[in-house]
Amino acid sequence: MSTILMILYFCMLCANASGYQNILEATKFSNVSHRSIDNVEIYYHGTSDADSKIRLSDINNMTSSLKSYYSNSQKCIDLSLHVYLVDFDTLNDREVATFVRWKSKSHKIDAIYDATVAPSGQSSIFISTKYDHNKTSKILAHEMAHYWQHTRCISQSEKEADDFSEFYISGKT
Ligand SMILES: [Zn+2]
Repeated sequence: MSTILMILYFCMLCANASGYQNILEATKFSNVSHRSIDNVEIYYHGTSDADSKIRLSDINNMTSSLKSYYSNSQKCIDLSLHVYLVDFDTLNDREVATFVRWKSKSHKIDAIYDATVAPSGQSSIFISTKYDHNKTSKILAHEMAHYWQHTRCISQSEKEADDFSEFYISGKT
């Protein structure tokens, strides 16, 4: 019995070690900008003040679009949001991004929304630096839809996240 308890205890330590520690240690953020958007504290961990401000403004616009896309939704969980800009290879390094549930050996991701190992009261988006402004915006809109689905207690849907992303980008042009 005590052996089982010991194993359980060590597994809990394993779970802690498989949080964001590795990916945050592997990435240098030269700028962290904050903005309160629709009563949500949003922190953008990026490379420059100018870029972070542009992205926070983008997130502000996405929030307005999400309100019309999910017009009947009600907030059910309060979570702050931390957005981390990380290198594509770092994000896809399985020793580093230990919290990602990889679908196959060759599975690669451009971004991820996660609240499973985020500190209490927080959620996170990790997004790769690989793409230009517009593609990054499109990817971020997809992940923001996942944040919205989670905090509105709507089931996670890839299709709706893709549809919202298209809706947001087409509304901008
Ligand atoms: Zn998705």
